[in-house]
Amino acid sequence: MTHVFHRSAVASYPVAASGEGVYITDADGKKYLDACGGAAVSCLGHSDKRVVDAIKAQLDAIPFSHTSFFSNEPMERLADYLVARAPGDLDRVYFVSGGSEAIEAALKMARQYFVEIGQPERHKIIARKQSYHGNTLGALAVGGNEWRREQFRPLLIDATHVSPCYPYRGRQDDESEEDYGQRVADELDAAIRAHGPETVAAFVCEPVVGATLGAVPPVPGYLQRIREICDTHGVLLIFDEVMCGMGRTGYLFACEEDGVAPDLLTVAKGLGAGYQPIGATLVSKKIFSAIRDGSGFFQHGHTYMGHPAACAGALAVQQVIEEDGLLEKVRTMGGKLRAALEERFGNHHHVGEIRGRGLFIGIELVEERSSKTPFDPARKVHAKVKAGAMARGLMCYPMGGTIDGRVGDHVLLAPPFIIDENHVAEIVEKLAGAIDEAVSAR
Ligand code: PLP
Repeated sequence: MTHVFHRSAVASYPVAASGEGVYITDADGKKYLDACGGAAVSCLGHSDKRVVDAIKAQLDAIPFSHTSFFSNEPMERLADYLVARAPGDLDRVYFVSGGSEAIEAALKMARQYFVEIGQPERHKIIARKQSYHGNTLGALAVGGNEWRREQFRPLLIDATHVSPCYPYRGRQDDESEEDYGQRVADELDAAIRAHGPETVAAFVCEPVVGATLGAVPPVPGYLQRIREICDTHGVLLIFDEVMCGMGRTGYLFACEEDGVAPDLLTVAKGLGAGYQPIGATLVSKKIFSAIRDGSGFFQHGHTYMGHPAACAGALAVQQVIEEDGLLEKVRTMGGKLRAALEERFGNHHHVGEIRGRGLFIGIELVEERSSKTPFDPARKVHAKVKAGAMARGLMCYPMGGTIDGRVGDHVLLAPPFIIDENHVAEIVEKLAGAIDEAVSAR
């Protein structure tokens, strides 16, 4: 009997009782290797004492002070830390409590920027199909995840969705990766022209698509072309790095690897690694100065923004990543995990593609490998993989609707940056058992 309104009103969940390194132990003493960081959150595992101590020290000093009265030291230091490492001319950080809030802030900043500079007709947002930007109404509206949006459609603001960059399904046989990237990027150009560039405020995308497609990176040249199109039409570019950012791909900001900088960039998950709830919107000088020199006030705000304990925790997380050389480790362990997955699943009849960057890896499951035929969604293969993995003591993040919101299955892996070779072997072994069981179940 519970009085909690859980995520699923019908499922019952084991109770997480303790965490040690990459493992979570439930109240019955069963251990689970966390190979997905929950949802790409727990990048330091579950027991980093340096982070816990930093949060405790902040609680002892002062747990909370409201940002309409005070600044606080961990928030100032965390902003300095992020801006010193951020791409392009991202220069200010607006702290919130999670990914959806970071996106809401980015969308409203984009809109207010155009009001401030005297282009109030710019209000439209363009995003991509098969994307996820959060569950609050603004974020849900710009997201292109059909099953999440469906029943709330009447409440959502209008947004236009162009194709994602998803070469496994979208690239034609006679097309190079680069040509494919230019073709889908040009859909943005066409959409802006169709709406009238003077009405479009921003384009938002995940540089590496997370939960909806399963760790799909852009092809070479794609993001450069997107940047070019935005610049041509005076449209702001928002990168949603809530899932792929903060080191997950082996770079602190995923877009660094592509050499493209946005005007606004959102982060969350790995920022606080789950030790505290926190998200942030990084903002370019141009946008900040327009607001500072205009009305002087961004018309937004939440009670818990810039929470001192959350900022102290996130700062400690980021310092641990740097001190322990974890970005480097993400790249090497990502290579090892990828190689082990390739060895185990490279010729698997039901594995269509293994993809991703760093410790952000997607495995697309198919009924038949050579034709890329997806499973009948009624079989709920992704749900069976999740259940089978949990039964074996493995957390992974499978999802359905990979192709169009209804059809397709993939498994997302996003383990803590501290995994070693033994963990890699355990992940592959247990995942193989879960996948084989799920694809043979009828
Ligand atoms: N943006 C992306 C890319 C995400 O993956 C998520 C969450 O999965 C969000 C936004 C929303 O973040 P939150 O769940 O913290 O509100």
